[in-house]
Amino acid sequence: MVGSQNVSLATLSIGRDAVQPQHEHSEPDATVDAAAAARHALSHIETVLATISQGPVSPMDPLLRDVEAWLAPIDFERPMDSAVVIDDLVSRMTSSGVHTTHPRYFGLFNPTPLWTGVAGDIIAAGLNPQLAAHSHAPAAVELERHVLQFVRQRAGLPEGTHGSFTSGGSEANHTAMIVALTYQFPGFNETGVTGSQVRPVLYASSECHLAWLKIAHACGIGRAAVRLVPVDAHHRMDVDALRRMCTDDTAAGLNPFMVVGTAGTTGVGAIDPLDQIAYLSHDLGLHFHVDAAWAGALVLSDRLRPILAGIERADSVTIDAHKWMSVPMGAGMVFHTNSEAVADSFHVATSYMPSRSALVEDPYTSSMQWSRRAIGLKLYVSLAVHGREGYERQLEHDVRLGEYIAACAEDSGWLRINTTRLPVICVVDPEADSENDSWLFHSEVVDHVVASGTAWVSAVRAAGQAAIRICVTSHKSTEADVDVLMDALNNARLSVQARTRLSKAERHIEPPGSG
Ligand SMILES: *Cc1c(COP(=O)(O)O)cnc(C)c1O
Repeated sequence: MVGSQNVSLATLSIGRDAVQPQHEHSEPDATVDAAAAARHALSHIETVLATISQGPVSPMDPLLRDVEAWLAPIDFERPMDSAVVIDDLVSRMTSSGVHTTHPRYFGLFNPTPLWTGVAGDIIAAGLNPQLAAHSHAPAAVELERHVLQFVRQRAGLPEGTHGSFTSGGSEANHTAMIVALTYQFPGFNETGVTGSQVRPVLYASSECHLAWLKIAHACGIGRAAVRLVPVDAHHRMDVDALRRMCTDDTAAGLNPFMVVGTAGTTGVGAIDPLDQIAYLSHDLGLHFHVDAAWAGALVLSDRLRPILAGIERADSVTIDAHKWMSVPMGAGMVFHTNSEAVADSFHVATSYMPSRSALVEDPYTSSMQWSRRAIGLKLYVSLAVHGREGYERQLEHDVRLGEYIAACAEDSGWLRINTTRLPVICVVDPEADSENDSWLFHSEVVDHVVASGTAWVSAVRAAGQAAIRICVTSHKSTEADVDVLMDALNNARLSVQARTRLSKAERHIEPPGSG
C-alpha cells in the first residue's frame, strides 16, 4: 500500500518536471525549502511549549503598546529567511497575551491542545482535503462520520441522528436554530419570516451563552426573540418559570419554537434540568436543544456521563471538541435527530459541484459551511491514540482537581457560591460579598493574580453576584499548580483588603460635604 503510493508520487513529480523544464511558472515557494519552514515551526513550538510553565501565564510585551512601531520591521516587500520569520513570529505570539497552554491557566474553556490533536490538524492543513463533496475526500468524510457516530452513541442519541463538525459551539448552535426554524415554521426555508405574521421566540436560561443573541440576529428573528428564563438558587433554569413564559408569550401572539437547555454554563458550570425541559418541550411541541459545548465531553466517561442525564432526549445537541476534548481550535460538533429537517435546511444543487449520489450525502448539503476543512481529523487522532478510556481518566482527574480547588479555597476562607460537580469553582470573600462594591473588590483581586503572572482566573457575575471564577482548563494542571494559584489568590486578597481599608479610612477623614 505505502509502496504503491510512493511509486505514484514519484511518477507525479517526474511528470511535472517534464511539463515545466525551466520552472517558468514558479510558485511562491519555488525558491525556498518551504517544507523546512513547517518542520522548523513544529520543532520550535515544541521547545517553547515544553518550557511555557516556567514563565508567566499572561505576559505583556511592552513593545506592543506602540503597535505601529511593533509592526514596522515587518515589510512584505523584503522577503525574509523562513527560519527568521518563524522564530520571530513565535516569539511575538508568546511574549504577549494569555497562554492557554499554561497549566496555571484556570480560564475560559480554552484547552492546552493535545499533541495528537495538533498532529491531526497538521494533516488536515497539509493534505488540505475538500470535505464539501463526499467524492472529493471520501476517506476524510467517512472518518469524521465514524467519530461523530461514536460521540452520538456515547451521548445516547438515537441511531439515524445526523452529526456535523463545525468551527465551534457558536456555529453548532446557529445550525440548530436554523434547523429548528425550518422544521417548526413550514415555508421558513423559502420565505424566512419576512412579511409573515409569525414571531418566533426561543428560551434559554439567563445564565446561557449569549452567542444566542447574535445567532437570533443572524437568523433574522431578532435578538429580542431570545427569552431569558430566570434561574434557581443553583443557577439552573427554573422550569416553572419557563412554562409560564411560554404560556404568556403564546397568549400574547408570539410563536415559541425552541428551548435551549445549557449543560455546563460558562459562568458557573450549571446543568439545567434537562429531563424536565425535555418533557415540557415535547409537551408543547418545541424543539429541544442541549448546548453542552464544554461539558458535553463527559459523554466519554461512564462515571460522569449521568451528570448530563436527559441529553439523550434532545432534538439537537452541541458539543465542542476544542474545549474539554482538548483539541486545537476550532472544532465543534452538532447533532440532529431529525436528519430530514437538516436536509431541508441546507439542501442546494449547483451545476459546478460534483453531482449528488443517492448513496452518499455531501457535507455541503447538510451544514452551514461550503468549503470545509477536515475539522474532525484532530479529534480522530486524539481518540484513536488515547482511546475513550484515556479521555475518561483525564476528565475524572479534572473533576477531582476541581474538588481539590474547592477544598483549598474553603480552607483559605473563601466561600464557594456554585454547586456544580464540574471543575468550575466560583468563590467570594464573605466580607466583601456583603459590600456594595463587591464586583470592584473581586475584579481587583483577579487583576492582582493575573498581573502577578503566576496564574490566570477571571471575575464573573453569577446571577448578578460578583465572584472569582476558577476553572480546570488545561489537561496539564496539577495539585501543585492549584497550590501556587491559592497562594497568589490569598496574597492578592490581602493587598486589595489593605488598599480598600486605606481608602475607606481616607474617605472617613474627608471633611463633610466634600462629596
Ligand atoms: C463555548 C460555548 C459556546 C460557544 O462556542 P464556541 O466554540 O466558542 O463558538 C456556546 N455555548 C456554551 C455553553 C459554551 O461553553
